[in-house]
Amino acid sequence: MTNPIVFDGHCDTAAELFRKHEELADNTGMVSLKLARQLGGYLQFYAFCTCWQNGPETAAAEYQAMLPFFQAQLARYAGQISLCRTADEALAALSAGRCGAFLSIEGAESISCDPGLLDEAWAQGIRMITLTWNHRNALAGSCRTGEGLSAQGREFVRRAQKLGILLDVSHLSDRAFWDLCEISEKPIVASHSNSRAVCANARNLTDEQFGAICRLGGTAGLNLYRDFLSDKPAAFEDVYRHLDHFLSLGGEGHVALGGDLDGCDELPEGFSSVASYPALWRYLAGKGYSEQTLTSLFSGALLDVLRKCLYKRCRSHAGTASFYRFSCFKISPGASISTLAPAASSCSRER
Ligand SMILES: [Zn+2]
Repeated sequence: MTNPIVFDGHCDTAAELFRKHEELADNTGMVSLKLARQLGGYLQFYAFCTCWQNGPETAAAEYQAMLPFFQAQLARYAGQISLCRTADEALAALSAGRCGAFLSIEGAESISCDPGLLDEAWAQGIRMITLTWNHRNALAGSCRTGEGLSAQGREFVRRAQKLGILLDVSHLSDRAFWDLCEISEKPIVASHSNSRAVCANARNLTDEQFGAICRLGGTAGLNLYRDFLSDKPAAFEDVYRHLDHFLSLGGEGHVALGGDLDGCDELPEGFSSVASYPALWRYLAGKGYSEQTLTSLFSGALLDVLRKCLYKRCRSHAGTASFYRFSCFKISPGASISTLAPAASSCSRER
């Protein structure tokens, strides 16, 4: 087949470009518009991660500088990439032959953990927020610190979900993960987290956590960072092991890509940049996965989640696999861009 459409849920390219004063079109990192030309279409959540710095004030100030820098990059290369806020805008970008950039925040310190600043973030185009990075903050504990969701964290979650901002549980503590599941009214994602049963790392998801993400209609994104794949130097085989484990838990339609590109220094052997995704596709196809399964993994599942996030939870379907009042958004195998139409609303039980 021709090269696949790739929708990756997490990279640190926006932060790297800002710090290194480099260009989105072509740079020394793992993600660029030049590299993306080797794909059949490219959508990417660009994360603003400011938490490598010290205090929350520094993080918010850095975000205030990083965002306009990246917006200027999008404007400079408007012929090649468009800001996307919905699945429909992503499909429009692909149809026009452009890449699609979704914006996310990794670590709510960027907006001072303030629920009152979410409306502004939404207006700026932010469509996903990872509550914490590896530090605890006013909202929750991280996978390194362990605390649950605070009262402020609960308010933040409710407000974000009301707006339609997707909540990302990567980096979150186990306790905060379950606190969040309890109050979640929308699908949640782990944008860049693998399976803990396959690689014992606190950044990875337990089987129970992955099951909860599936029931809420979300996705886990395969992270290509070696430390989260294997305790040995990683290979495509390790990516396969994580994917296969998630699928063995009934996770078809709930696994996505979350490469963590430009945020990690060791990738699986044979994978060097976003342009390596077609090679991963071919490897996985060689393992016997259908085109439908791989299309879902490479783009369909994450597009689905974005669509679901704009809808309310359907009360009559609470707790079931189809509790959203619409049918899932699908890319059929081999579909051309022009046939990627959204499915109609389907739940007749919504009151
Ligand atoms: Zn991360």
